[in-house]
Amino acid sequence: MQYNPFENAQAQFDKAARELGLDQGSRALLRRPMKEFHFTIPVKMDDGGTEVFQAFRIKHNDARGPAKGGIRFHPHETADTVRALAMWMTWKCAVVDVPLGGGKGGVICDPREMSPGEQERLCRGYVRQLYNQLGPNVDVPAPDMMTSSQHMIWMLDEYEVLMGGRYPGVVTGKPLALGGSLGRNGATGFGVVYCLRDLLRAEGIDIKATTASVQGFGNVAEHAARLYTELGGTVTAVSCWNQADRRAYTFRKKEGCHIAALAEIKDHFGSIDKTKARAMGYEVLPGDAWLCEEADILIPAALENQITPAVFGSISKRVRVICEAANGPVTPDCDPLALERGILLIPDFLCNAGGVTCSYLEQVQCNMNYFWSLEEVLEKLSSAMSKAFAAVYGLAGERGVLMRDAAYMIAIERVRDAVKMRGWVS
Ligand code: NAD
Repeated sequence: MQYNPFENAQAQFDKAARELGLDQGSRALLRRPMKEFHFTIPVKMDDGGTEVFQAFRIKHNDARGPAKGGIRFHPHETADTVRALAMWMTWKCAVVDVPLGGGKGGVICDPREMSPGEQERLCRGYVRQLYNQLGPNVDVPAPDMMTSSQHMIWMLDEYEVLMGGRYPGVVTGKPLALGGSLGRNGATGFGVVYCLRDLLRAEGIDIKATTASVQGFGNVAEHAARLYTELGGTVTAVSCWNQADRRAYTFRKKEGCHIAALAEIKDHFGSIDKTKARAMGYEVLPGDAWLCEEADILIPAALENQITPAVFGSISKRVRVICEAANGPVTPDCDPLALERGILLIPDFLCNAGGVTCSYLEQVQCNMNYFWSLEEVLEKLSSAMSKAFAAVYGLAGERGVLMRDAAYMIAIERVRDAVKMRGWVS
């Protein structure tokens, strides 16, 4: 079965809107993006030719503040994926209560096949096409799939050339030397574990007595696994992609994976070296073995649509919690199955909101031109995530609904209030 991410996002919205009894005007406004930019970027390539790339920037809603969201570079990017991700950004910013709206961008390209110079010209071209729609108070991009802090700095520089000034708040995810925030790198993974920590505490489960199985070993997964093990949990399996073999593997150690040691033998794309892992005593299993691992917690932190009804039955009876660290790793039609099994699912736009929360902290620091210590940033991040988690967990208990539905209800109500106060909807 093919899952269209925008249709998924709209179906989830419609369900929560029904539950909330949302008025017709807000429903009509919030179920689609407010603005879409579809444009082309001509880029001079190193061989002297010109290639024209198709690009998008989609603002779902900016009633609560400037639109916020990453720019993805991917050969299979689609307008519908960008639309869905823009919509999820609106709910994500609202559920953690940062004063930002939702946006997302994308370019159909494969940066792995482009030289650094070609990528720089593409980034500058993106901004040239869109600069009057960007800005610290308008729309603020960030790195995302296959874009990095270097891409953001090229975009920032082009924007500042065109605007004739310094605007460090126009992008986030900047390097520390140019206005980045300490803690941004690990923020999404840490946010996942702050939610998990609070859930286990609320359920009376000692984190030290739990085990977890993780899909992915990139930015989000590695930092989540690190903090989880620091808090006393045991990661027994980690799965990641192997580009050379064009397949995924699961690395398993029953007595517990050593996350820092695994990080030493992974490459820039989050692939673990299987020969070295074997030498370190890891079992090397098929890529989907992480899903069947007999663990208390599953942390899918790689890709969307990984847990579908077709594979739900292979999840171990022991699993009590699923943390949706990736965007959309569990398809919505699994929600009733999780409910039936009593599995507690922390929904993606709450679970992985640590990144955007830290981006907001980065913007605040840029505006003050004064930067906090790592401890201060993590303290603020932890307390923002705890506050958001408590509200979602509390409402889910009160209304007898899933945490996903509760998170949607909180986020949609906040955005609904903003559009009403602005008079966009009667
Ligand atoms: P990343 O590129 O750093 O890492 C991705 C990981 O997934 C890699 O370890 C890769 O080997 C693994 N992977 C890819 N295909 C796989 C497969 N078939 N089986 C097993 N593993 C596979 O990406 P990331 O930044 O860690 O993001 C992961 C997810 O989290 C994505 O869904 C992303 O949209 C979401 N997310 C990321 C952030 C962030 O701040 N980085 C914020 C919010 C959401």
